[in-house]
Amino acid sequence: MRLLLLGGTAEARALADRLVAAGVAVMTSLAGRVADPRLPVGQVRIGGFGGIEGLRAALADYDAVVDATHPFATTMSANAAAACADAGVPLLRLERPGWSDRSRPSWHWVDSHADAARLAHRLGRRPVLTIGRQHLAEYLPVLSDAAVLARVVEAPSIAVPPGWSVIRDRGPYALAGELTLLREHRADVVVTKDSGGEYTWPKMLAAEELGVPVVIVRRPARPAGVRTVHDPAQALAWALTGD
Ligand code: NAP
Repeated sequence: MRLLLLGGTAEARALADRLVAAGVAVMTSLAGRVADPRLPVGQVRIGGFGGIEGLRAALADYDAVVDATHPFATTMSANAAAACADAGVPLLRLERPGWSDRSRPSWHWVDSHADAARLAHRLGRRPVLTIGRQHLAEYLPVLSDAAVLARVVEAPSIAVPPGWSVIRDRGPYALAGELTLLREHRADVVVTKDSGGEYTWPKMLAAEELGVPVVIVRRPARPAGVRTVHDPAQALAWALTGD
C-alpha cells in the first residue's frame, strides 16, 4: 500500500504518525506555503502538482489518497476529487469537525470574507483578524481606517495600512495568551474562519469571556461524493482495510 496524504494540518500529521506505526508507506504532500513547516513523520514532498492533470499523473505512484488538507483549501480538495475519480484511485477525506455545534449567541456567521469585513466594520473599530494572510486584501477596502490587529503565520504579501498591526504566530494557542492578546489590543470584534478543531479554539473562549463578538466565515462547500471521516483513527482503518 502506497498512500498519498495531502497535508498541511494537525490531523494529517496525526494520521502520518499512525500510518508509519502501522507500516504503511505514506508520502505527505505539503503546498510549500510556510517557510518552516511542521513536518510529519514519514516521507514528505513539497510543492503543487500542477493542477488536476499534474496530480492525475502523480497518482501512478499511489494506491490510495487521503485528503487531509485544511477545510478552506478548496482548490486542492476539488483537484483531488477530480484526479482520483479520473484515475480510479480511492480517495478519503479527513476533516476536523467545524464549530457550528458550539455556536454562541455572540457569533455572527457569514458566507464570505467580504461579508465578514463589512460586518466587522459595523460591529467594532478594533478588530482582530485571524483569517490567515491569503484573504487579508478583502478586508482592506472596508477596514483601512480601523485599528486592525492581524495574526498570521507568514508575513502578508500585501502592504497593510499604517493603522494596522501584524503579528506572526502559529498555534496551538492557550486561553491565557488569547485573553492577553484581546485585552492588550482592546479588541471589540474578532474575525475567524470556521477552521474547527482545538488548536485555535481558545480565541473563541477568550472572546466569549471578554464579551467580544465573533464574525465567523462558514466553510466552503466540499466536492460531492467523497467519503469523509473526522478522526485520524477512522482514516487509518480505511487505509488498512478499505472500511
Ligand atoms: P488551495 O487554495 O486549496 O490550493 C491551491 C494550490 O496549492 C493547489 O491547487 C495546489 O497546487 C497547491 N496545494 C494545496 N495544498 C497542497 C498540498 N497539501 N500538497 C501539494 N500542493 C498543494 O490551498 P490553500 O488554502 O492555499 O492551502 C495550502 C495548504 O495550506 C494546504 O495544504 C492546507 O492544508 C494548508 N492550510 C491551509 C489553510 C487555509 O486556511 N486555507 C490553513 C492551514 C493550513 P497545484 O494545483 O499546483 O497542485
